[in-house]
Amino acid sequence: MSDLLARHRAVMPSWMALYYNEPIEIVGGKGNRVVDADGKSYLDFFAGILTNMIGYDVPEVREAVERQLATGVVHTSTLYLLRTQVELAEKIARLSGIPDAKVFFTNSGTEANETALLLATYARGSDQVLAMRQSYHGRSFGAISITSNRAWKNNSLSPLNVHFLHGADRHLTQFRGMSDADYIAACVDDLRHVLATAVAGNVAALIAEPIQGVGGFTAAPDGLFAAYKEVLDEEGILFVSDEVQTGWGRTGSAFFGIHNHGMTPDMMTFAKGLGNGFAVGGVVARGDLMDGPHAIGLSTFGGNPISMAAANATLDYVLDHDLQANAARTGDILISGLREAAGRLSVVGDVRGRGLMFAVDLVDPATGAPGPALAARFMEETKKLGLLAGKGGLYGSTLRMAPPLTLTEDEAREGLGILVTALETVDDEAR
Ligand code: PLP
Repeated sequence: MSDLLARHRAVMPSWMALYYNEPIEIVGGKGNRVVDADGKSYLDFFAGILTNMIGYDVPEVREAVERQLATGVVHTSTLYLLRTQVELAEKIARLSGIPDAKVFFTNSGTEANETALLLATYARGSDQVLAMRQSYHGRSFGAISITSNRAWKNNSLSPLNVHFLHGADRHLTQFRGMSDADYIAACVDDLRHVLATAVAGNVAALIAEPIQGVGGFTAAPDGLFAAYKEVLDEEGILFVSDEVQTGWGRTGSAFFGIHNHGMTPDMMTFAKGLGNGFAVGGVVARGDLMDGPHAIGLSTFGGNPISMAAANATLDYVLDHDLQANAARTGDILISGLREAAGRLSVVGDVRGRGLMFAVDLVDPATGAPGPALAARFMEETKKLGLLAGKGGLYGSTLRMAPPLTLTEDEAREGLGILVTALETVDDEAR
């Protein structure tokens, strides 16, 4: 065990996840690559945790932050006007497509979801919330309540009354072999049943990830959430899209994941990539909801000048370089390459994805059961070959890849080569 790992174990909680048998210390980064303390370079196919959306040491972001630092103001107070905050809010409100949108900034995705829950429950005078099975929304009491993933939910002491819906679980026996249209119809039927039988009075909101991140990059078929919204609208139930992983063009086919469903939500929450590593999150919501009668107060650090400088520079970079189109292009190379390889690899159960958010499920070739040990082997192998991937999913057997949106086509091909080589090794060993 390295000295730093021993010190980490001594003073930090045992439940803090660390990748790899011998966890690495990242000491540098440039473009879409990082360097560890031994000088080994890696192509970062997880972009931190989808945080380094436009790669590392981006001059535009560094210079924006340095300009802010040079003013002498790291933070004053959200009680004063801040130009960069207003500018960023204007951009996000416009991009959201939400009518009369207003924006509130937080420091994380958890806080963003917590804020959305406060807004929705206050607006509707209800503690009842709908969420999706297999979801992950963060690490506060409220966010864990709406999370449906055993690995991240260790108690049921919920401050909210939550009902979980179908939508990203077509693998269940009851749905197998169904067309999209039939699956959507079955899900809508279930939603109506929940509303008719399981809830009492008002329901505040449905919160959903357009593509479930921690859950393993599993997605509802396009159109499902639009169908849900029709039902919810009948009762005034709000729709909150958690865009913490799916925002800013990552899916290639839409700027926010929910737009793939041809609908506009009442609120969206965001975080992760927006600050390209600097902590920034927030909520964008219909103005009437944001301005509702129940003020929810300020956030001391939410919307601070350094985060705002970084976030404005990052978002401008994404738009100026049309990184959504790049995500579609490079994602295609990777997803189609992996699909092609999957045909000859008995450990691959499924390849799925959209843009630069794609996943591979590993299964035991003999039984077809989820293979968490195979995923752990894959991680060690890709590390050796110089690529950082993510893993997780409901059974720890899903490989999750979400490279920076700045990934070049050459890097996509290089990464694909490493992924396929690592899969072949795992496949050989498992036969
Ligand atoms: N929502 C989603 C979809 C997430 O994936 C995450 C984190 O992984 C969160 C919310 C929580 O964000 P944070 O870790 O910034 O609090």
